[in-house]
Amino acid sequence: MNFQDLQLNSKMLRAVERVGYTAPTPIQVRAIPEILAGRDIVGCAHTSSGKTAAFALPIVQMLKPAVGKRRIRVLVLAPTRELAAQIDEEFGKFSRESALRHTAIFGGVGQGPQVTALQRGVDIVVATPGRLQDLMNQGYIRLDRLEYFILDEADRMLDMGFINDVKRIIKRLPKARQNMLFSATMPQAIQELSHSLLTDPVEVEANPQSSTVETIAQFVYFVEGGDKRALLKHILRDPASQRVLVFTRTKHRANNLAKQLSRARIPAEAIHGNKSQTARTRALARFKSGHTPVLVATDIAARGLDIDSVTHVINFDLPNIAESYVHRIGRTARAGAKGIAYSFCAVDERKYLREIEALIQQPIAVVSEHPFASATPAPTRQNGAGKPRQNGASKPARQNRQRRRARRPRRSRQAQPA
Ligand code: ADP
Ligand code: MG
Repeated sequence: MNFQDLQLNSKMLRAVERVGYTAPTPIQVRAIPEILAGRDIVGCAHTSSGKTAAFALPIVQMLKPAVGKRRIRVLVLAPTRELAAQIDEEFGKFSRESALRHTAIFGGVGQGPQVTALQRGVDIVVATPGRLQDLMNQGYIRLDRLEYFILDEADRMLDMGFINDVKRIIKRLPKARQNMLFSATMPQAIQELSHSLLTDPVEVEANPQSSTVETIAQFVYFVEGGDKRALLKHILRDPASQRVLVFTRTKHRANNLAKQLSRARIPAEAIHGNKSQTARTRALARFKSGHTPVLVATDIAARGLDIDSVTHVINFDLPNIAESYVHRIGRTARAGAKGIAYSFCAVDERKYLREIEALIQQPIAVVSEHPFASATPAPTRQNGAGKPRQNGASKPARQNRQRRRARRPRRSRQAQPA
């Protein structure tokens, strides 16, 4: 299937060519003609499946140049500031030949420049719910001419507690409009929202969430919690680890880990919700440019980020929600590139591993030969993805542990198996 087959006009085909897309992704194939035909859409497709272009291309094509005063005709709601900025950028790329103006609206930065952009007049607004409502309440945003409403990453809106804000915003939109809802997963609350939001929608589903991107090589390391840091440094010292996104369970752990790595001369920065917008943007820019090879993140901070060519995703902590695993590792192998995902699994995280394997319906291969192998026997795997070890750790693992103890005498013996 080609972009030419999707009823896109020559201007949009040139835009696609300019950004270097050669073939549409499955969600684009299904959604673009339906949106162009004026249908409401509910799109369910995993992270990095090209959902942004699936709605941005047809919308830019359908928007006529503004006559008279510019009014907001497109509103996209996104859960995070980074995501809003990314979607806004994408609209910029696709609308270069169209006389359209677009802007991103989000909190954490001064509202002045955003208000100025709004007062100049814009056609497309990409916003997070909080700042949007702020500016609406201050009278800077009028949506009475809205034609298209897009709710992106709806499930994340729910996770982040924005669902009531979203509902409040929807109530203030004019009734006659085309709606699109995109989500990686379809929990009950989102299904209900989509019923109330959409009129006779076309449902487009491509790659349900449980199917992990096939180009990602996935491995698990069984390791004691206290050895995770040493194992991480060991992996990061491998020259293949060029651009590595590390996930921790909490903001606090992200901060600490980034500091400890930097102290070990492995440049790293943390990105999470407690950082100022400026700090987050800066950390992201440095990571994207290759200046900082390691970015330590929490789930919320990383959701939806489009960072190209991440070589490795490392789950320093396993997520306690299995679907987060799929979101996390989706950061590597974006748009067809190959990627590697390593997961560190401490004894108390093995239940999470089981849930993840059940969700993705495949066992994750075990790296058993490494200097920090856990002393607790690895669980027996159903189909031999990892080699089960008899009676505790393998001999090399035992020797390694002894060597380590000799090197680090101050380490107590508590780490021994019970
Ligand atoms: P999603 O919203 O589904 O997570 P994005 O829209 O952010 O995914 O797209 C993920 C990445 O894939 C982006 O870098 C985007 O530029 C790229 N991409 C999107 N569509 C295509 C395509 N048809 N061909 C190649 N790359 C694409
Ligand atoms: Mg997206």
